[in-house]
Amino acid sequence: MNRKNKRYISLRGKLLIAFLLFAALTVVLLWVFHTFLIDGIYRSLKSSEISSCEQYVLNNIGDDTGDENIKTVTSFASKKYGVCISAYRLIYEGGRKTGYHICDQHINSFCYIHNMSDDDVLNSLYRKTSAAGGRYSEEISISAMFGTRGNDEEGQNYILSVTVPGDGAEYFLIFNTELLPLSSTVSAIRIILIIITVILVIAAVLIAIPTSSMLTKTISDMSDEASKMESGDYNVRFDGGKCSDTVNLSNTLNRAAYQISKLDTMQKDLIANVSHDLRTPLTMIRGYAEVMRDIPGEANEENLGTIIDETEKMSSLVNDMLEYSKYHGTDMKPEITSFNISECIRETVARFSEITERDGFSISFRSAGDRIVSGDRDKIERVLYNLISNAINYSGESREIEIRQTDLTDARVKIEVEDHGIGIKKEDLPLIWDRYYKVDGYHSRDKSSSGLGLSIVKSILSMHNLEFGVMSEPGKGSIFWFIIDNAGKFVREKEIVHL
Ligand code: ADP
Repeated sequence: MNRKNKRYISLRGKLLIAFLLFAALTVVLLWVFHTFLIDGIYRSLKSSEISSCEQYVLNNIGDDTGDENIKTVTSFASKKYGVCISAYRLIYEGGRKTGYHICDQHINSFCYIHNMSDDDVLNSLYRKTSAAGGRYSEEISISAMFGTRGNDEEGQNYILSVTVPGDGAEYFLIFNTELLPLSSTVSAIRIILIIITVILVIAAVLIAIPTSSMLTKTISDMSDEASKMESGDYNVRFDGGKCSDTVNLSNTLNRAAYQISKLDTMQKDLIANVSHDLRTPLTMIRGYAEVMRDIPGEANEENLGTIIDETEKMSSLVNDMLEYSKYHGTDMKPEITSFNISECIRETVARFSEITERDGFSISFRSAGDRIVSGDRDKIERVLYNLISNAINYSGESREIEIRQTDLTDARVKIEVEDHGIGIKKEDLPLIWDRYYKVDGYHSRDKSSSGLGLSIVKSILSMHNLEFGVMSEPGKGSIFWFIIDNAGKFVREKEIVHL
């Protein structure tokens, strides 16, 4: 899918839609409840009310089925549950079952049992109850009794009749509760629902607008700041407002902006430094070459040597840059083998023999014997080379460099490269490992300095997961160190070699 062509809804629009959907869902639920459920719920409440009344009466009559007891119990139950009750005692007389009215508990004037027109209705109800096994219920209307047609809902009753066997007789109890017409209640609820619907929609809009404005303002402010970054202005400040998510986002963006601006400054510095460092040897090469071309007898070994030295500086600078981009452009893994770190140190030091002899440097190596360690030999050699090279370049007047190899108690080996040169200020210490970082005024005149050497060291040691660090004091010198895993093999015993 082409994301560019896709139209996105704004945060404010989405929030508004969400609130309106919520309001709509609430309203729909209320309307469904009102339209389909209210009648059923009312009828089931009435049915359970009449059943509770029946249970109360039967429980309280118990074995005492005397007329007086039934009268007392039904009178109380009728008031307690708001249910009309009629009770009859049935006895056989002359071969026929005859019913004697014991009591009438009268609550509602529209009740069925108090408006029964004749005994036939009562007889019919009794037959239905007997046929149903002694308990019968029915919804019934008294409109027909009065011959009125009127509203079908009016005069609706719910009746429950039970037969209770007694001492020498049978009792017939009829419970009646009126089912009130719900139409007026329903109309009232409908008006309330319309009002609720309007209030919910207005509330949804009123809540959604300020909430979304608050959020969108924070985000659009951040987006404005991000646009500044896009056009190269890294002096930006993201404000995350008062929500934890946007505050987290703004903190991350502020850190990213800081890193990008630092990188930008460093890159500019690099271009300035590299072009300066390349221009100086190029100017010298050109100058010497012109002298050798124009002045007879100047094409001597010394001048050629200077040209070669300058080209070496240039190529070492270019190599540093290539190497740095190699470690940072790819996700390179070290090729771990076991190798003799002491031998590696001696070989690396030997690479500086020409400079040390020529310029009078002394590099000593102290160790308690050769050690076999695990690591990528070529890369560790590069680390040693960069550290020793820096020690030479920044050793000032002392010209003495000491490399120490120490066994640690946890079977690891610590390598230290110490010089007694210019040292590094405390505030610069955390920064020297950054790419392109160079402490102002410290790099020696002769050295082509890229500010990448320690950054390469850091990349290599980090990819090995090795501990490393520096201790330094301005004017006293520096000790750069790293700790490498011992592969567990000793080779030679204690030695101090001056190289
Ligand atoms: P450079 O090419 O400038 O030497 P590095 O990354 O190797 O770059 O070092 C970064 C900076 O750290 C150097 O410019 C220098 O200021 C400082 N530095 C590195 N090693 C030493 C040292 N042994 N003594 C003093 N300063 C050092």
